[in-house]
Amino acid sequence: MQLIDGKKTSAEIKQEIAAEVAKMVADGKSAPHLTAVLVGHDGGSETYVAHKIKSCEEVGFVSQLIRFEDDVTEDELLKTVDMLNKDPKVDGFIVQLPLPKHIDEQKIIEAVSPEKDVDGFHPVNLGKLVAGLDTFVSATPSGIVDLLKRYNIPTAGKHCVIIGRSNIVGRPLSILMSQKGIDATVTVCHSRTENLKEITQSADILVAAIGKPGFVTGDMVKDGVAVIDVGTTRVKSDQTKSGWKLKGDVDFDSVSPKASFITPVPGGVGPMTICSLLKNTLKAAKNRTK
Ligand code: NAP
Repeated sequence: MQLIDGKKTSAEIKQEIAAEVAKMVADGKSAPHLTAVLVGHDGGSETYVAHKIKSCEEVGFVSQLIRFEDDVTEDELLKTVDMLNKDPKVDGFIVQLPLPKHIDEQKIIEAVSPEKDVDGFHPVNLGKLVAGLDTFVSATPSGIVDLLKRYNIPTAGKHCVIIGRSNIVGRPLSILMSQKGIDATVTVCHSRTENLKEITQSADILVAAIGKPGFVTGDMVKDGVAVIDVGTTRVKSDQTKSGWKLKGDVDFDSVSPKASFITPVPGGVGPMTICSLLKNTLKAAKNRTK
């Protein structure tokens, strides 16, 4: 079994991005600019956004954080989105999800200009992905494909089973994995899937994006499977200072002895998601300077 080291791979990709940024700046162009919008004080969102801003600094991007309290109105948020859409200094921006219940998330997603939608959540960008056109691919699926490529995990003709069909992970990943060049045969599973175990047992590549800690167990996989664990659920822990730790959707202890490759949680998919966001922002900046 080989552990897929997302931290190491993402550090390599960050170095490649930093080299490109240095060249852009040396050529007299301004560095890519990413703005993050954060609403409220959700612990997970605070951590993700802090990592994103720190990663921007590491690769030489300009970054900005715009914060709102939980009681921000939908109108105020839409105005900020509009302002960022029009700001020529901003190449790309993200509105960290989830948003408070009184704000219509889909409305905010659709208000972001597709040219600056470096999260790849806008329906125009999702549509381009489906049509096989150049676009901003949402960060987590794109990071997973990068991991598979960099670890030389064969995909052509292989059966890729994805558990989860969300618009940010499962569904876009299923489209990417079936694209020409990747060529996997894809099965997407969800909460209404019957005989899940039979399906997962036939997977050459198994991706779990469910949000249920330890859901995938050893009896659900075949020998030699490559396992990508997307799940990140905070569970109570008396072993950490914070009182919680991140747990994946895969029961590592029972699955890893059967796997050819497996991602840990944390340190697998998570760091790659941030890298893909940086890659999308670099792409937006290049589009700007074309
Ligand atoms: P989501 O929108 O809640 O979707 C979960 C999916 O799991 C749904 O499609 C659901 O099916 C399916 N599901 C739930 N119970 C199931 C069951 N018993 N059997 C089969 N399928 C089941 O979640 P998400 O946003 O995709 O996120 C999934 C996990 O990944 C979460 O832990 C999240 O924190 C994590 N995540 C991590 C990263 C990262 O960078 N590491 C990025 C994004 C998300 P239905 O559609 O039928 O409800």
